[in-house]
Amino acid sequence: MAALPPGSTIGILGGGQLGRMLAVAAAQLGYRCHIYAPAGDNVACDVGAAYTVAEYDDLAALKAFADACDVVTFEFENVPVPPLETITGLVPVYPPLKALEVAQDRAAEKNFVRALGGKTAEFAVAQDESALPAAIDAVGMPCILKTIRFGYDGKGQARITARSDIAGAWERTGSQPVIAEAMVAFDAEYSVILVRGQDGEIRFWDSPRNLHVGGILATSTLPAGALVERQQQDARALAAAVASALDYVGVFTAEFFASAQGPVFNEIAPRVHNSGHWTIEGAATSQFGNHIRAICGLPLGATDTVAERVEMENLIGDDGDRFEQILSDPAASLHLYGKAEARPGRKIGHVTRLYR
Ligand code: AMP
Repeated sequence: MAALPPGSTIGILGGGQLGRMLAVAAAQLGYRCHIYAPAGDNVACDVGAAYTVAEYDDLAALKAFADACDVVTFEFENVPVPPLETITGLVPVYPPLKALEVAQDRAAEKNFVRALGGKTAEFAVAQDESALPAAIDAVGMPCILKTIRFGYDGKGQARITARSDIAGAWERTGSQPVIAEAMVAFDAEYSVILVRGQDGEIRFWDSPRNLHVGGILATSTLPAGALVERQQQDARALAAAVASALDYVGVFTAEFFASAQGPVFNEIAPRVHNSGHWTIEGAATSQFGNHIRAICGLPLGATDTVAERVEMENLIGDDGDRFEQILSDPAASLHLYGKAEARPGRKIGHVTRLYR
């Protein structure tokens, strides 16, 4: 595809903070963004040029949206795929829907990565409650149950440490198909964040070390330390192989555990990712800027880290009340997402600190 000229309209499916930051990056390059999301606290709509509030399976609304856009992308990986297939003939959609399909199914995702030579945690599928004990036996205890679909930020997960935990675990994860996943003994978590252009060129950002608290990302830090740096090449090679196999266009994230046996793949995000927020100030081109460049067929920007040390801290729940204190720190850049309600566990902003 020839490069999409500035002034064109980029459609974004999903109305959260990732869409908001994509729209800001797009506006900087002279594009208009049209946000499409179901009713809710759609903070991306505050900064877009246009928006449609409709369900993801509203085919008439999706078609009108496709007609109004020159390219369509998504910021939310649980957008149902079949309705989207009805617009792929009307407008280019990047990343390809195959990437959404794979990322929406934890078992398919792990099998896809294994087929490319990646190491994952041992897992077994339980389609119904009666299959749960055998799945747990297959991987051993302790283990984690994860819903096959619609899990994020530690939601849809239950830890099993004893036989007595099994009763009730099916209900705790929402009475839906799950995988039982063996615990991985890891020393650190990190992510590979890459951008792949329409011509197949791939660029990587430095991998941050990610700290999760209660299943939610708390901080991303660079440099990530010697252990992660030793594994980064292997993890990058795997992430690049997955992105290429999907014929991917845009920013792609793969999360890994750093274990004594090397990188253990955890999951992919077929989109910009929370562990890449540091790139707004910490890299020559941000993940948002490069995602827009990739889907518009523009030259990709440099991904070099621009500081000695970078720390991204998520602001969760009422953490945003500290905004004045954060703004008085000369190392800090504050991002607030404009959410109407700061519920516990809800990401309401982030702060990135650069040290040179
Ligand atoms: P996930 O939604 O799969 O990314 O899981 C959220 C977080 O739970 C991860 O980032 C880890 O901190 C932890 N976790 C998930 N799966 C495992 C595992 N198999 N072994 C150990 N910790 C895990």
